[in-house]
Amino acid sequence: MKKAIVTGISGQDGAYLAKLLLSNNYKVFGIVRTNLKSFSNLEYLKINNEIEFVYCDLLNISEVEKTINDINPDEIYNLAAQSSVFQSYLQPITTFEFNTISVFNLIESIKKINPKIKLYQASSSEMFGRVKNLPINEESVIHPVSPYAISKVAAHYTCVNYRESYDMFISCGILFNHESYLRNENFFVKKVIRESLEISLNKKDDLKVGNIDIKRDFGYAPKYVEAMHLMLQQETASDYLVCSGQSVSLKEIIYYVFDRLNISKSKCIIDKTLYRPSDIEDIYGTNEKAKKELNWQYDLNFFAVLDILLEEEIKNYKK
Ligand code: NDP
Repeated sequence: MKKAIVTGISGQDGAYLAKLLLSNNYKVFGIVRTNLKSFSNLEYLKINNEIEFVYCDLLNISEVEKTINDINPDEIYNLAAQSSVFQSYLQPITTFEFNTISVFNLIESIKKINPKIKLYQASSSEMFGRVKNLPINEESVIHPVSPYAISKVAAHYTCVNYRESYDMFISCGILFNHESYLRNENFFVKKVIRESLEISLNKKDDLKVGNIDIKRDFGYAPKYVEAMHLMLQQETASDYLVCSGQSVSLKEIIYYVFDRLNISKSKCIIDKTLYRPSDIEDIYGTNEKAKKELNWQYDLNFFAVLDILLEEEIKNYKK
């Protein structure tokens, strides 16, 4: 039985990845930062009891070393991060600190204890920032425009550097936005679906949003975690874009959801205080490398994903 450590297991991707690993007969160890043994996302997927939770402060290298030494996993999936761009403007230093030092601690520990352990790092399309040429590919110029993106660039190149310098198996998935029912409510798509549903039920007056002219490449989280797993099943480590290949504007998303719920467009209120200091206008990538080398399958258009999300939200509302 293979053993995998998943950091960030309580988050959206951690939960779906843990479910996938369990279905592939892995023993899954979830790194958590509290002594709780119950997490809503894992409970929702009915896998809470199948995970072995391990308390570990990823900023403390002694604890990280001990954890890796005790478990001696085959694979580590590093998903833990302060993952919100918006939040990173409010807490730039702690975002940078956690998102980079935790990665150094993991890599240094693997190098010392067992360099054969395979590591997956959660990199982000936000690293490309000021985009010049579309679609983005694995060789596109990196130009981050937020504290979150800067932290992800630093972590990403730490991984690339150790892979090249010490021949370690470290693969980075450069994921574009991906959504699910388990997405935290501070994120745009979840917020739109949740609040629109409340508007349709007369429990909320309107939907307040920032700049909705920007476009993003959105996908479906349960499918994106499959690419993470595939990356660590290869002979050699590499970096892969994981994306749908198309961008849609935030406005299109709102109007689609409003339309499905019979809500007037006038209920969408632009709130300039929600604008970011700098933002990416449009971004989408190509998933050719992931499809060709990993045999990753993905063909969902985002409006089909919105249908899935809406249905799941409606089903679970009030539960
Ligand atoms: P979530 O925000 O849902 O989950 C983040 C996880 O990281 C949670 O388990 C959280 O634990 C943990 N975490 C956050 N801060 C700390 C900290 N200071 N110490 C320890 N643990 C911490 O993120 P996602 O699941 O959506 O994303 C997974 C990874 O993929 C992240 O690294 C994210 O940056 C990256 N990514 C995500 C994309 C997306 O669209 N979802 C796109 C590109 C990259 P707790 O529950 O205790 O808060």
